[in-house]
Amino acid sequence: PQYRSKILGLKEDDFEKYQNWALNYYLSGIIPPEIKAQSSSPLDSSLTKEEFFQFSLSFSQLSSDVQKELALHVEERIYTKGEIVFNEEEELNSLVLVQSGEIELSHYIKDLSVYFTLDKALDFDVLGAEELLCHVPSTLMARANKKTKTLLLPKNIFEELMSTTDFVVPLCISLASRLQSFNKFRGKTIQSGEDDVVLGEESMSSSGTTKVATLNLPEEGGRDTKDPIRLLDKVLRLASQKNASDIHFEFFEKEFCVRFRVDGTMISFQKPLEREIGMTFVNRIKVLAQMDISERRRPQDGKFVFKDDSGEEVNARVSTLPARFGEKMVIRLLRKKGSVIPLNRLAPDKKVIQFLNRLTEYKQGLFLIAGPTGSGKTTTLYSVLNKMDHVEKNILTVEDPVELDLKGINQVQINREIGLDYSQVLRYVLRQDPDVILVGEIRDQESLQMVFEASLTGHLVLSTIHAANSVDVFPRLLELKARASQVATSLIGVMSQRLVRGICPHCKTARPLSSEELALFESAGLQVGTETFYGKGCEACLQTGYLGRLPLFEFWENDEQIQTVMMKEDMELLSQTIRSQPQFQPLLHYGLSMVARGFTTFDEIRPYGLLRQPLGVRQAA
Ligand SMILES: [Zn+2]
Repeated sequence: PQYRSKILGLKEDDFEKYQNWALNYYLSGIIPPEIKAQSSSPLDSSLTKEEFFQFSLSFSQLSSDVQKELALHVEERIYTKGEIVFNEEEELNSLVLVQSGEIELSHYIKDLSVYFTLDKALDFDVLGAEELLCHVPSTLMARANKKTKTLLLPKNIFEELMSTTDFVVPLCISLASRLQSFNKFRGKTIQSGEDDVVLGEESMSSSGTTKVATLNLPEEGGRDTKDPIRLLDKVLRLASQKNASDIHFEFFEKEFCVRFRVDGTMISFQKPLEREIGMTFVNRIKVLAQMDISERRRPQDGKFVFKDDSGEEVNARVSTLPARFGEKMVIRLLRKKGSVIPLNRLAPDKKVIQFLNRLTEYKQGLFLIAGPTGSGKTTTLYSVLNKMDHVEKNILTVEDPVELDLKGINQVQINREIGLDYSQVLRYVLRQDPDVILVGEIRDQESLQMVFEASLTGHLVLSTIHAANSVDVFPRLLELKARASQVATSLIGVMSQRLVRGICPHCKTARPLSSEELALFESAGLQVGTETFYGKGCEACLQTGYLGRLPLFEFWENDEQIQTVMMKEDMELLSQTIRSQPQFQPLLHYGLSMVARGFTTFDEIRPYGLLRQPLGVRQAA
């Protein structure tokens, strides 16, 4: 009671207000700028309890009286190396304050009997605040990595503290930085992700002639994960089950690491494996992919096929690259069936579907999709082709590589080694009397000229191009020496595309909207309620809260007005004209509409640089 009178200066509804506010800040990953961590925290394990509160970011703003009071209520607890602080599904009764030592936060993957590490809590860190704040059991396991001194702050005291801004704001900062760190551990950094994709694709591009081996996974028998071959089979099955697009094997000085890319995000195994196991993995895959086991200094590629748990055949394309501590191996997984998405299921937005449907009716012209590597451009074009009549129309594709088998469509693979580049193959393809041609990518002047000629002489050409957005496609074409008149007459329309992760439907949860978020929705002209959604994290989504991916679109159609402006080559006016089309919706607004409809989150849209931070608010480093 005495304690309560000292720090509880707020009314009940104010308490709730702060709690919601804290939750919002935590979930948005945004921290207020005016408060910074104490940079001069002494890393001394012999601190008294009072000193701990003085230097811990979350408690440092409290008055010294309150800090002294708190010191009386905490219980000291020392964990030995390997000891579990709390487990998954455990209800927490207290906040765990790390005085000194290290606590690892991880999530257990049953199928593989391994842990994935998400974060490490070090001196002055606070654990369990999210659980106590949201009244949920822990979704992670916390285990001491070495001898760790902690202070346990009882739940009821924590709840009382939540009523003071001096505690709530700093706590939010530490929660926000934990979220950032989770994301870092999950490899959310966009740039490194793109690098990995490029590495995989480039080193695999010449694998067209490699023979295909088949891997028969052994029957489920003993669960001995110490047998490396069995463990590898489990890794492959798990990767397929979790819909991973790539498996990465990496050697370090003393260990071997396995990582998956799931929905564009890298996820690593918590416990690195022994290098010996890694050698077995790499050699086994090399045998399956008919690669040279003894060659370790030159890059190689190959492929094999295996059956996953559902009996579905999975194509695996393998590439190796010599790295400092051993070969880095990337296995790209391509599922054979069910990957062409029916056009009407491509997006939950009617306008996009109607636009793409109209496209299938054109007899001639050029349609372009802009976007970076891995933004799902080919998937969209496949859906469009799949919608067309394969019997009445002669459809041909020129691709590098052929990503999927399309029924009833002739697909030609580029093979530069034997002189079959885009322009060469296009020349052959045009002699085959096609109605519709998909050109994987327009990279050079020569291909572009052929594409224009084809699109003006009775062929519908669909292709992709690298450009920042749908409006920038026109200047990009001029850069490739296209004439403005060619573009104006042949271009049907342009689309720009990005992929974001979708909220996991198994753990989708509502939370209140912050005022900034509400303002963003309003600026996009969207009518929304008071809630938005996120994934709490569950077994199905490997605790990421996301499952599957969702395309974001921006598109416009060529018309007389745009044609006239194109002929003038006035970029500023062109941009204005396109943006003033009634059906034009900027990518950001499309993304926000997907957030408003509960398909994805603000966080997923932010990394693409689409959202400006509200003034006076910065993102945690
Ligand atoms: Zn989930």
